[in-house]
Amino acid sequence: MTIDLLRLMRAVHLDTRPQDGEVWAVTGPESFHLVSVDDSGLLCDCEDFAFCGGPCKHILRVGLANGDCDTIKALRQLLPNPTRRAVRRQTSRSHPESPNSVGTDRDSRKAGTHVGAGATNAEHQGAA
Ligand SMILES: [Zn+2]
Repeated sequence: MTIDLLRLMRAVHLDTRPQDGEVWAVTGPESFHLVSVDDSGLLCDCEDFAFCGGPCKHILRVGLANGDCDTIKALRQLLPNPTRRAVRRQTSRSHPESPNSVGTDRDSRKAGTHVGAGATNAEHQGAA
């Protein structure tokens, strides 16, 4: 089965719901199609399947929902493989932004301002 990656990209954004028997309803923002099984494999009632005969986005969506190995392998070609370096960069970047460290920084700065203001007041009173 040859999987068209453009159709697969569209398939990811469709919803699928199992119906009675081996039939799935595949819905998009403006479409509703039924995918069913027969001896030759999955069939769809859409025009794309009727003209091309290959797996349309609705059939690919059912493949994703059912954990079809070929469809999931094809999906790998669309997604970047996260490397260890990318994961490490992400964690080190998110660490200083954690709410705990930001709160500590602000508190120490605030405390410093208070001490400074107090010292200026004391000096002022001493002069007067
Ligand atoms: Zn279809």
